[in-house]
This record gives sequence, structure tokens and C-alpha cells, in this order.
Amino acid sequence: MIILAMDALDINLVEKFNCESLKQDEYGQTDLSEFDQLRTVVLWASFLMGKNMEKEIPVEGQWKFTASFDETFLKFFETYEMIDVPSFSFKQEDHAEIRKLLKSYFENQAPVEEYDTVVWRNHEESKKDFFDALGKFDLVMGYFDLADAVGHLSFGVDKKMHRVYHELDELVKETKKSNDVILIISDHGMKAVGRYGDHRRNGFYSLNQRIGLDKPRITSFYFNIERIAKNECS
Ligand SMILES: [Zn+2]
Repeated sequence: MIILAMDALDINLVEKFNCESLKQDEYGQTDLSEFDQLRTVVLWASFLMGKNMEKEIPVEGQWKFTASFDETFLKFFETYEMIDVPSFSFKQEDHAEIRKLLKSYFENQAPVEEYDTVVWRNHEESKKDFFDALGKFDLVMGYFDLADAVGHLSFGVDKKMHRVYHELDELVKETKKSNDVILIISDHGMKAVGRYGDHRRNGFYSLNQRIGLDKPRITSFYFNIERIAKNECS
């Protein structure tokens, strides 16, 4: 199985830019109504663990939270590779650098171009890790924060977001050369606040097989992934 975890991938933009590869046999919006806040680490931890982790993960120190293997759906797979997944194998230093550049931008000490350059560099590195891992493990989960990171400073800049969604669509197109089950999932969507972007509830999921989900909760995928893992292994 392959899971493409795409931070802030928004269903409205997938439709707007007509991303044909992102829209697989079954796709739609996720239900995030059980969460008070849309915090990235909380949502990914909740996805991995199949339960709402909002209360267990305080804001203070949230990026350092690590889910224990036994509590995640990883235990349903014999081998797995998790690339840059928040709350599990997050590339802490890369993301700390991004948060620092974001802060510098708002203090007028770093231009948006410098921030974007590092975001895209990190993306290319994770993309390489992801394609290197494909076909070598029962589960490969790759996390890509391009839509979130670029979106926070430029969600209102159509040309930039179009480039981001095109890149993510191409990434999926390449992934689809595999015959594996592919789940694409975002933690939340995004809305424009002037030129900037903020999290909103329009999360997205997409599967290359129809299982008839209807606005699924992000915590409900745990059970579907368990079923897929058991089918693949038997
Ligand atoms: Zn996020």
C-alpha cells in the first residue's frame, strides 16, 4: 500500500486546477468536525492512530510528539517506510528551518523567495526518498507539505498555487505506475486570508479503488487501512 500524505491539500483547489491524477476512482472531502482546532501534528497523529489525539497533544511542544508504533496502523504491515511523517518520522531540522524563515519573513528579515526556495528544496528531497522506497516495502507513506508551506505565505497568489498543485498531481501520476493501493489524504484544507493562507476544514481524500466512503472522518481510515493490509498479506 502507498499513502501520500499531502498537508493542506484542499478539495476546492484540486477541482479548480483540475488535477486529474489526484482525483482517483473515489475521492471527496473528509469530515474534521470532531476537532476544535486544525493542528497539523494532531491531525496526522489521529490519522495514524485512528482516534482523536487533540487532548493528548498540547500546543506547547506539539512538533516533538511521537506516536508509538503499537498504537498506529503500522503494526498491520510487515515492512514499512515513513518519509517525513509528522508525529512519527518528521524531519525536525528541516521543518524548524522553515518555521524560522516564516518568522523572519514576518519580521521583514527574509524575502518570500528565500522561504519558497527552502520549501521546494525540502520537497525535492522527500520526493526522492519516496520514489526510492516505492516497491521495497509493504507500506510506503510519504508526507509532502508543499501545499501547506507555500500556501501559508502565498495562498492568494494563484500562479504559485497552480504550480504547487501541478507538481503534486505529477507526483501522483508517477506513483500510479505502481499497481498498489494508493490513498491520498490531507490533514485539512486551506482558505485565503489576503495573500496568505490559513487552515480550513476542506480536507481531501482519494483512493484508486471504490470503497464507498461518504465524507469519512480522518480517524476512520485506520480501520480501512487495517482491512487493506490484511487483504494484501493473505
Ligand atoms: Zn497541516
